[in-house]
Amino acid sequence: MSKLIDRIEQGLSGLDQHNLRRRRRVTSTPSDAVMTVDGRSMLTFCSNDYLGLSAHPDIRAAFKEGVDLYGAGSGASHLISGHSLAHEQLEQRLAAMQAPYLVQARALYFSTGYMANLAMLSGLAAISLEQTEIFSENLNHASLIDGAKLARSKVKVYPHADVVALEKLLQDSTAENKIVVTDSVFSMDGVIAPLTEILAICERYDAWLVVDDAHGFGVLGATGAGVLEHLKLRSANLVYMGTLGKAAGVSGAFVAAHASVVEWLINRSRPYIYTTASAPALAHALLTSLEIISGAEGAQRRAHLHALTTQFKTAVGTAIAGMSLMESNTQIQPLIVGDNHAALQIAAQLYERGIWVPAIRPPTVPAGTARLRITLSAAHNSAQVTRLLDELSSLQKKVA
Ligand code: PMP
Repeated sequence: MSKLIDRIEQGLSGLDQHNLRRRRRVTSTPSDAVMTVDGRSMLTFCSNDYLGLSAHPDIRAAFKEGVDLYGAGSGASHLISGHSLAHEQLEQRLAAMQAPYLVQARALYFSTGYMANLAMLSGLAAISLEQTEIFSENLNHASLIDGAKLARSKVKVYPHADVVALEKLLQDSTAENKIVVTDSVFSMDGVIAPLTEILAICERYDAWLVVDDAHGFGVLGATGAGVLEHLKLRSANLVYMGTLGKAAGVSGAFVAAHASVVEWLINRSRPYIYTTASAPALAHALLTSLEIISGAEGAQRRAHLHALTTQFKTAVGTAIAGMSLMESNTQIQPLIVGDNHAALQIAAQLYERGIWVPAIRPPTVPAGTARLRITLSAAHNSAQVTRLLDELSSLQKKVA
């Protein structure tokens, strides 16, 4: 066989040796608390469909209506003929949601959050490559790390939530275009970044603050507008990214910022310009999703999610089955195991009992911090959370 294939196969066995090989499971029902997985009914605690909207009848109906109105695909990139009325309406609605927290807010819709992050960071840096320096938090999502690479600028990584270290880096920087970038809710920890302090520092040093609110949009804030609403922040320095495939239940993402920033991205950001616009029906469905998120039903779903999170945290305390809880108050409630193999084994035991919780291993999380990433959703009920807790504590008894 070709040496090229041999090398790949050696790479795969290397992954096996360290318990790092990833496998996919096939789901055949909508994302929900109970799903059919590889043909079997499973109670799931792994999806990012935090408000349980992806199976919502009104959003499904809007999606179908969108296909009737606009067809199956957009046919071209946004700058050619792919920018539909649905995309335009969605961007206006998203801009209105973030307007209280930004100055002259405008929004730009992307096919995915990954693309939005590539576009946002490389686009902001493209103002002046030599004069740009990016300050990136060390637990940032992979798409922000890749976005910083695509920006081809100097990158300095600051330690997790360390505002003192960040300030020192900004103080020492002579770059004119300083970009601080952080997750809001850390995707594998559930902890919220100290954004109030970080924004004050950014304003002091005239730096952008780029916030990835993938896990906050729809969930945080009284109207679900996300972390800026939750922390009552407002600044012209803010560049906000929210994803629409998680709490919003559909697909895609958006950047909201000062209108001039968005205009610049439309003109200069390659990941925005050189790709086909996503299906307009997605944007049409998202208009309904946003109505739900910012209305009374969204508030009820957030309150229910919050109650489930409190139930889970209160019952677990600080540790269960030899695993420790992180200090998260959000719907992401990881249990730290440490060892990769042990995390996989615990996840496999839960799976045997009909509960699907993913084991998250390096490089997604730092070495030695493999964990079960439990995500709660408004689609769950309290009895389902009790069942998870019962199974976890029976593992504890088995281990003890
Ligand atoms: N940012 C963060 C923090 C994420 O967790 C994710 C998705 N896991 C993304 C960006 C990428 O978003 P999308 O899935 O829409 O590409």
